[in-house]
Amino acid sequence: MAVYKKGSKGYAIFNMKCPRCHEEDVFHTGAWSFTRPFEMKDNCDTCKLNYMPEPGFYYGSMFISYIIWAWFSIILVGALVWLRGWSVEGAFVVLIAISVVFFVWLFRVSRTMWMAINFKFDPSKIK
Ligand SMILES: [Zn+2]
Repeated sequence: MAVYKKGSKGYAIFNMKCPRCHEEDVFHTGAWSFTRPFEMKDNCDTCKLNYMPEPGFYYGSMFISYIIWAWFSIILVGALVWLRGWSVEGAFVVLIAISVVFFVWLFRVSRTMWMAINFKFDPSKIK
């Protein structure tokens, strides 16, 4: 799909690559790694993009993760309770279990989404 090809926002977001050159990883460890889960590189090794252009830059990514997770939670619990006939407690246990597994991934994807919103892909920056 074109949305996941190099040069698209989807490629940078879901592969967690630098939003400007799409060459370097934004995080030190892999997307599903729980070692150093919240540590980002300071800048891109290829295009030298500063990943922390100003203090508080990533506040916007908190809104992205909140919106994604709030809607996911409402839809999941609603579907389990009303469509599948589960108890509310059972639905919340499933929601919490999924939240634990996807917490780091969501944190990282919301940050790369925020970066993709704020930085444009620029192929001329690729060495
Ligand atoms: Zn870069």
